[in-house]
Amino acid sequence: MREDFFSYNQETEQKEDLDFNQLVKCPHCKKPIPQDAISCYYCGSQVDFNKKPKWVYLVVFLVTIILLSYLIFF
Ligand SMILES: [Zn+2]
Repeated sequence: MREDFFSYNQETEQKEDLDFNQLVKCPHCKKPIPQDAISCYYCGSQVDFNKKPKWVYLVVFLVTIILLSYLIFF
């Protein structure tokens, strides 16, 4: 939605006004990078902020199944 900001070209010159809410620190070099970045711009390390490990989904799935079966059978 950047196109909606008419003053965007002016704001790009003010680095301090970048939306730092969207930036996160690189776990490797501690430099600010966008939250949706796949790899760090500075050190090139892969960063997966939005991805959870697969076991998280597995645990959530299993807990849900156990709770459901508990509710149904007991
Ligand atoms: Zn980095």
